[in-house]
Amino acid sequence: MSNAGRAAIVTGAARGIGAAVARRLADDGFAVAVLDLDEASCEPIVEQIAAAGGRAMAGAVDVSDEDSVATAVEQVAERIGAPVVLVNNAGITRDNLLFKMSTADWDAVMGVHLRGSFLMSRATQQFMTQAGWGRIVNLSSTSALGNRGQANYAAAKAGLQGFTKTLAIELGKFGVTVNAIAPGFIETDMTRATAERIGIAFEDMLRMAAAEIPVARVGQPEDIAAAVSFFCREDAGFVSGQVLYVAGGPKA
Ligand code: NAP
Repeated sequence: MSNAGRAAIVTGAARGIGAAVARRLADDGFAVAVLDLDEASCEPIVEQIAAAGGRAMAGAVDVSDEDSVATAVEQVAERIGAPVVLVNNAGITRDNLLFKMSTADWDAVMGVHLRGSFLMSRATQQFMTQAGWGRIVNLSSTSALGNRGQANYAAAKAGLQGFTKTLAIELGKFGVTVNAIAPGFIETDMTRATAERIGIAFEDMLRMAAAEIPVARVGQPEDIAAAVSFFCREDAGFVSGQVLYVAGGPKA
């Protein structure tokens, strides 16, 4: 079956990696729901997809909020069809060393990455199991291996790997694969904000990061979109429960 009759949801898709994933899945033939906290900020991505001949809709969702998730998923199903692809991409950072990390910053990061991926996956799995086909891709990170100043984020991203493997076991018999991508350094607003927080110019940070990466460059959102595209392919149906590090080399 081609992807033409299939709908995909990408969360946090107004910019960065999520926007590139939305564009790529539309190129692959999926009708794409571009979801983010602010619906208006998704419109430019929807317009880009339409201009390229694809089909997309914009929608608002706070992935950490159960009611918001239920409403958003319902709207997607009504407007572009049963969502059988879910990319749990929405993310935030609230970095600090452990002794300075507030409980609110811990909870916020867990709320978006872990609770958010759980709520979105639970709300969409019914469409996938009914269709007997589905693809869930979770965004982990090389930070799952440990990263100074990111106890909350690293714990959430490592948690997503266990979540991925468990959903793969539960949903496999319904034709649903579940995989995770763990990006290394990708040039987005998230990494730009990190440079600002630690007080160095973003260009300097990009140069320093590239010097440590075997392929001698930082990653671009399209590098991650290409990996998501692979996991969502028809012929990737025997690949499930995997964590793919997309980091320009073997080490974080
Ligand atoms: P980004 O540019 O900061 O984009 C993240 C998007 O998620 C934003 O549009 C943001 O909306 C949205 N978002 C935040 N909280 C949300 C919520 N509760 N519900 C719905 N949407 C929400 O980040 P990115 O760099 O593209 O990262 C995308 C994913 O890849 C994240 O999961 C991140 O942890 C992961 N990742 C990134 C890198 C990297 O180097 N960039 C590396 C490894 C993993 P607002 O703009 O309104 O806040």
